Amino acid sequence: MPELVFFSGTMDCGKSTLALQIAHNRDARGLQGVIFTRDDRAGAGKLSSRLGLVTEAVEAPDGLDLYAYLVDQLSQGGKADYVIVDEAQFLAPVQIDQLARIVDDLGLDVYAFGITTDFRTKLFPGSQRLIELADRIEQLQVEALCWCGARATHNARTVDGHMVVEGEQVVVGDVNTAAEVVGYEVLCRRHYRRRMTSASARAATLSPDVLPVTPA
Ligand SMILES: [Zn+2]
Repeated sequence: MPELVFFSGTMDCGKSTLALQIAHNRDARGLQGVIFTRDDRAGAGKLSSRLGLVTEAVEAPDGLDLYAYLVDQLSQGGKADYVIVDEAQFLAPVQIDQLARIVDDLGLDVYAFGITTDFRTKLFPGSQRLIELADRIEQLQVEALCWCGARATHNARTVDGHMVVEGEQVVVGDVNTAAEVVGYEVLCRRHYRRRMTSASARAATLSPDVLPVTPA
């Protein structure tokens, strides 16, 4: 039975690397996939992993009907044995419904990879819809670690090195906007709640004026 599978995790947990691995394994068996992505760090129409691997992909902006795209491909003699979607948290909920239709009406496996929650710990709309519709949800095995060594479960956004909990849901990281440097860091829940990033933890140990945070 074809399936819609949601591979979920935090940032830095190896989602894109696993997506590339799945594509590679199927290609090696003569299967051909369609890869969708959205706002990949390597640019439009690319699926890249932090380990440096990159492959061509189809950029999936808000208005793109993913089901219609597949039907077009197949009716023009194109081949598609499976579908991979990276950065699936950025898709609109209606596009997740289109993925379910690809599984049910076209009989293809769809593997969607995404971050579950944003920097405010709220579900991304795309990820919420995947949780609602997926046949199977896989928590990724490669665990991202907080600076303290604990399992990182939260995606923190930093502006000029300070953790923030307000702002637009989607801001691409490592970018200078309006003279602010926006970045992301994965943290355990304890340090997310204390807003303690690796930089602020370092500053706290170096500064004699700052007392250690007492356990809540
Ligand atoms: Zn921690």
